[in-house]
Amino acid sequence: MRPRTAGSIRSSFWTCDSCRSSLSKRRVAQQPTHSVKRPLSSSQRLYRGKLPDTPARTRFAPSPTGNLHLGSIRTALFNYLLARKTKGQFLLRLEDTDQKRTLPVPKRSYIKIFSGLVYNGMKVGPVVGGPFGPYRQSERLHSYQAHLKGLVQSGHAYHCFCTPERLDELNRRRHDLGLELGYDRKCAAIDPEQAHDRAVAGEAHVVRFRAPDRWPRYNDLVFGNSGHGDKGNKKLYSDAPVWEDAILLKRDGFPTYHWANVCDDHDMNITHVVRGSEWMSSTPLHVAMYEAKSWKPPIYAHVPLLVDSNKQKLSKRNFDIDIASYQVRGIFKEALINFTALLGWSHQGKNDVFNLQELEEAFDLKITKGNTIVAFGKLQYLQEQHARRRISAGGEPFEQMIRDVSVALLERFGAGKVVNLVGKRDLRDVVANMLQADSLPYRSAAEFAEQCSIFAEVPRLSKPDVKDVELHKELSVAASTLTLVPDAEWTYQTHAESLKQLDFAKGPDADTADRKKWKTELYHYLRWALLDGARGPSMPHIMAILGRDICVERIARAAKETRLATQTESNASSRPDVTTTAFKSAAWPPTSP
Ligand code: GLU
Repeated sequence: MRPRTAGSIRSSFWTCDSCRSSLSKRRVAQQPTHSVKRPLSSSQRLYRGKLPDTPARTRFAPSPTGNLHLGSIRTALFNYLLARKTKGQFLLRLEDTDQKRTLPVPKRSYIKIFSGLVYNGMKVGPVVGGPFGPYRQSERLHSYQAHLKGLVQSGHAYHCFCTPERLDELNRRRHDLGLELGYDRKCAAIDPEQAHDRAVAGEAHVVRFRAPDRWPRYNDLVFGNSGHGDKGNKKLYSDAPVWEDAILLKRDGFPTYHWANVCDDHDMNITHVVRGSEWMSSTPLHVAMYEAKSWKPPIYAHVPLLVDSNKQKLSKRNFDIDIASYQVRGIFKEALINFTALLGWSHQGKNDVFNLQELEEAFDLKITKGNTIVAFGKLQYLQEQHARRRISAGGEPFEQMIRDVSVALLERFGAGKVVNLVGKRDLRDVVANMLQADSLPYRSAAEFAEQCSIFAEVPRLSKPDVKDVELHKELSVAASTLTLVPDAEWTYQTHAESLKQLDFAKGPDADTADRKKWKTELYHYLRWALLDGARGPSMPHIMAILGRDICVERIARAAKETRLATQTESNASSRPDVTTTAFKSAAWPPTSP
């Protein structure tokens, strides 16, 4: 739900001195006695960003008016991390009192929100039947009514019987005069006993909060000393005065968002509230309500808005999409959580890659005040990093990646090509090799499969450019020695070892430059032979992915092409056919240099 502004519009018109003083006297007479908060001292401001010393009890309180978006996940996550870091508790509360906005099936939406949090690894609880439940506001109506009683008795709230038509007329007139809107307190003058009787008799009414003379200030953990400045609540006019007397209970008997939120945070012993900065304009009203009830308000930490690279607030149009769509796109929960945590929070660590547990350890309230630009490139980077972590950790998350990529390969290339590539092997093992290869970043199964076209498609072999006949013969023989590895030993490690040995095929006495040149030529030759020169992972990975049968076939095909090309070249230059001694005794296993 969008916050309603309390005291956010500033007076901008002139009122003569005598009106001002008579209005001000009337105002003082009508006001109940709220404490007027002075700005906080610098020592009080010191705790900005500081974590509480005692366990924080936090909550995520979404209104079920839509799906979970990036901003809501961030709010949930910061509340969660604050609770975990301080060994406190985190709970989920559904703010579903706005009947017009709540989805028709709130229970389903509750489950959706809940599973969204759990998908992201957060331990939420209890949802049903906990000691502070129920956790849906629509099931707590009795408590909002009960808390209201004391407030009416103490004069901090009053019944208002004004019709919507009268209020519309009042606002329309003020609007036409260019004056600020508010309520003229007509019903505040009704004797409370009379008002009570009229309400009990069933006359349509709302209950209004009698706003304090000045809005209290509060100490925000992110923004420091906050509030509406020295601004008084009453609007001065050339017309009659009005006040920001917020409605607490609506004509339908439901509480407004503000009242329900304050009552619940009090009843549920919430100590800290992390929420979007769009709520800051409502916080003085909330604090005033706590003061009117003589309750201790929670400590607030407002987090900045999320904006796109054009500094526009995130919306569906510019990607503030439903969290479920990240799931559908195959974004890992740890990548999404990691990305979300970095939206406004900064840390001292060397790199930005954190899983939820690492975040729980590192979290503090060093949250920026400025709007946060959401750069989706970072999400891709984190996805790749977390993919690497999943691959090296192995286990079920890795197996799931294997299954997803297998499906994506079949969808992208069709069963025929996949079967040709896999041969006698197990598809699972081939895909595992692909995922373990370097230079193949993983963003999603579909994007990963796309990169694997170099393996799934059979490359045509371009004609070799043979300038040095002897060198090409040597390369062809060296490549053939690699195919001597038996099937059972056809692994990345074996090829890495064999290739290391072939680096020294020029003999132990070859000088470094020669050896380097030879190595470059060999890798170049093999990449041509196996993939027609396509870029991709390193050679041992390529060989492991293609498997023995395909490598043998392609290396033989390349040898034939080389032979043809070298013969043409030899004939042209009438040079003798020389096979160097280095490869005359090619055998498996190769011997050390
Ligand atoms: N129900 C409010 C929302 O939808 C929560 C505000 C709060 O956290 O106090 O954003």
